[in-house]
Amino acid sequence: MEILDGKLVAKNIIEEVKTEVANLKEKTGKVPGLTVVIVGEDPASQVYVSSKDKLANKVGIKSNLEILSENVSEAKLIEKIEELNRDTDVNGILVQLPLPAKFDTWKILSKLSPEKDVDCFLPESVGNIILNRAKIFPCTPSGIVKILDNYKIDIQGKNVIVLGRSFIVGKPIAAMLTNRSATVTICHSKTKDLKGHLKNADIIIAAIGIPGFIIDDMVKDGVILVDVGINRLDKKEEVLDMCSEKQIKLFDKKGYAITGDIHKTAFKKSSFYTPVPGGIGKMTVAVLMENTVHLFKEQNR
Ligand code: NDP
Repeated sequence: MEILDGKLVAKNIIEEVKTEVANLKEKTGKVPGLTVVIVGEDPASQVYVSSKDKLANKVGIKSNLEILSENVSEAKLIEKIEELNRDTDVNGILVQLPLPAKFDTWKILSKLSPEKDVDCFLPESVGNIILNRAKIFPCTPSGIVKILDNYKIDIQGKNVIVLGRSFIVGKPIAAMLTNRSATVTICHSKTKDLKGHLKNADIIIAAIGIPGFIIDDMVKDGVILVDVGINRLDKKEEVLDMCSEKQIKLFDKKGYAITGDIHKTAFKKSSFYTPVPGGIGKMTVAVLMENTVHLFKEQNR
């Protein structure tokens, strides 16, 4: 089993973005701008958002966090998005999901200007992905494809199971891998004989949000495992069961551990796997920077 090292591949992307931002600054006198809008105080979202902000600053992108109270009205939130749409210093806008339950997520997202849709949430962006006409791709699915490409993993003709059908991960990655000539099956909570599907897979992309869900007897020898899940574990017995030695040591220091949707016993049967942390999460944030630079260039042609 070989690790698909998201930290390393992301580092290379980040270096390239940093160089490109410096070149763009020299050429145009401007730098790309990214705004993340976060509503409410979901602790996981706050961690993601602060890592995006830190990385943007590191690569020279002008990062702006719009932190709005959970009590903000729908009209005010829409007004904020429309203001950002008009702001020429903002090239990419990301509305951090999930939004608090009182909001109609699609109504809010539909207010985003398609040219600033940095994580490809809008129907227009999704349509372009399905039609294989997209210039940028949603950050997490794009991170998955880039890490597989980086390790020269052949996708064509492979049986791929995508576990989870969210519009953020499952559906777009299924379309993207279909366009790369994989044979893709999407599985979800209503799938019959899930184990049978998983056992037949050459590549499994797990994005369901259940810690250690996929265990060794669900996968075949030599499978390639891509673990998108980010789950927080607070109980020592769960950490001992699911996590690596390194993670167990970290748990003793921090009092919690982060793990994916795939159990460590399944990794042992794989030919390649992405770890959590240090896998797709790192790729996702790096691609966000890359997408922001792309939108800046499109808007400054
Ligand atoms: P959602 O939480 O929106 O959806 C979960 C999906 O899993 C649904 O399609 C659901 O099926 C399916 N599912 C739930 N339980 C089962 C089950 N027992 N058997 C089979 N399928 C099941 O997914 P997200 O894509 O938003 O997130 C998934 C995970 O990925 C989370 O841990 C999240 O934190 C992580 N994530 C990580 C990112 C990264 O950067 N690494 C980025 C985005 C997400 P159904 O549709 O039938 O309900």
